[in-house]
Amino acid sequence: MSGVDLSAAELSRIINTEGEDDRRGSRGAVSPPIYQSAMFCFPTVAEMRAGLRDELRTAFYTRGNNPTVELLRRKLAALESSEDALAFASGSAAISSAIIAHVAAGDEVVCIDRPYGWTGKLLGKLLPRFGVTARFVAEGSVEAFAAALSERTRMIVVESPNSLTFETQDLVGIAALARERGIVTLCDNSYATPLKQRPIQLGIDLVAHSATKYLNGHSDVVAGILCGSHDAIRRVFDGPFMTLGAALSPHDAWLLLRGLRTLPVRLRHMSESAGRIVERLREDPRIAAVHYPAEDLATGMLSVRLATDGVAGVERFCDALEHFLLTCSWGGYEALAYPMCALSESPNYAADDWPPWNLVRLSVGLEDCDLLLADLEQALEAMAPR
Ligand SMILES: *Cc1c(COP(=O)(O)O)cnc(C)c1O
Repeated sequence: MSGVDLSAAELSRIINTEGEDDRRGSRGAVSPPIYQSAMFCFPTVAEMRAGLRDELRTAFYTRGNNPTVELLRRKLAALESSEDALAFASGSAAISSAIIAHVAAGDEVVCIDRPYGWTGKLLGKLLPRFGVTARFVAEGSVEAFAAALSERTRMIVVESPNSLTFETQDLVGIAALARERGIVTLCDNSYATPLKQRPIQLGIDLVAHSATKYLNGHSDVVAGILCGSHDAIRRVFDGPFMTLGAALSPHDAWLLLRGLRTLPVRLRHMSESAGRIVERLREDPRIAAVHYPAEDLATGMLSVRLATDGVAGVERFCDALEHFLLTCSWGGYEALAYPMCALSESPNYAADDWPPWNLVRLSVGLEDCDLLLADLEQALEAMAPR
């Protein structure tokens, strides 16, 4: 169950015209203008006072709202079928603001185990200093989540598919369980995108995105999105959004609007290529395991565990890659490889038993698929011990 009941026509309507049907104010500009202004003035005190009644919806000060950013918010709310949305300077800002807005000292957050690294740090390290604790659940079933709840549970955080291994959680069951007990749910939907999964349709309260990844898709902007009801978005806006101030700039919002125009075509190409790559790698004895989500959630992301006897073999494979760039992040137009063994000396990422040293995450780009397959083949040859 994915909650995607968006027709192709409705999808194009949202991406191409939502919020853009009246261009008179911008002299017919086809591409929306960038309102590169920190604040917006009013002709009279009375109009200023009226505007200030609702800063979430008024262009007054760009930390709160800005017309270019607001257009992006409208499109994302429509894509995720939520009442409203906020745009942030990063996905991490969206996730941390959503959580901080809903918890207080003494509360507990229940989260899927091994979420995106900085979500884990927020819950495991930062919030405990303020009296908010977290429990991490190893399995994505309703039973596992139910067993982790306590009187103090205020929020459930899920990420489905999850980072690195793309396992999924039972969003429908977990959302229903939470609703019964008045617990707020947040789902990181960065991997599936609203094209493959719409968690709000499944009963989830809040949906977060690292818009840095597929939504923008061009590796040139760091941004985050949070979607939810009017009340929930108001709560986040009046609290951490305005006080922490991690707002998206108008120019970055414009780049994101531009990236969004091609999301469906990009995802189609990448899912097709990734599917072919997965098929090939699953049969290869030099690959110990391929992590790839179930078909309806599959995009261009996969991870492989290399069947090699040490880090040197992983290094030979990665160093030989010519078309997959070695870096973090994912979801752009270009193929990327992220070897976990590169994290071993990082104070921020290395943990005792996770992630596995032989795991390499691959983000498939817009390249010709045969080119990528040939690149992987020659890198696997280079991996063999000499
Ligand atoms: C990258 C990422 C984030 C954080 O987003 P930023 O834009 O880098 O702050 C959150 N969740 C997932 C699943 C991610 O991959």
